[in-house]
Amino acid sequence: MPEGRHRPQRTCLGCRQAFDQSQLLRFVRSPEGDVLVDYRGKLPGRGGYTCLSIDCLRQAVARRQFDRTFKAPCRVSSVDGLAAGLEEALRERLAALIGMARKSSQIVSGSSLVLDALERPERLAVVIVAEDISAGIAEKIEHKARSRGVPCLYFSTKADLGQFLGRGERSVTALTAGRLAETFLAEWQKLKEFQGKFDVKDPSA
Ligand SMILES: [Zn+2]
Repeated sequence: MPEGRHRPQRTCLGCRQAFDQSQLLRFVRSPEGDVLVDYRGKLPGRGGYTCLSIDCLRQAVARRQFDRTFKAPCRVSSVDGLAAGLEEALRERLAALIGMARKSSQIVSGSSLVLDALERPERLAVVIVAEDISAGIAEKIEHKARSRGVPCLYFSTKADLGQFLGRGERSVTALTAGRLAETFLAEWQKLKEFQGKFDVKDPSA
């Protein structure tokens, strides 16, 4: 975005610092008084914002900042519940991105094809391994991805991965280098950032 253009700023209800709205998580209040994560920023009504940090969310809830923002009593059953809502939204987004990559042929799917594709690692942006894959295959894939400098992460199950790809079970898939894969990795990083974990299997780690 060109410099000087106005970008909306919002204050985090946890740490009280101002950031670009696009960097913050948006929350809305349902008519019943529940605080909901509005991950895509599309739900109508007044919004409350926090950093993408579970600590800021905890502070916002502990200090009843949502009640103040929405000028009405808010129910937050638990921070963990809100965190789970966000995690679900992020997982849905990641799944949708894998589906989009499939439709635009930016995907390599199946462990043997991914192992082959890792012979030309510059074409690949990320290897995605099902969490319920057998340890032997996981080790083989992860080792090769790491040695070729391609990030390798564990996401969803074989059944779900297959479903995102419109097939039967899939234990391994990879996204080819491009904007879609960059978006996927950025969303993944958001999830880890929120959880306070940075466990993308960075090959240099
Ligand atoms: Zn904050």
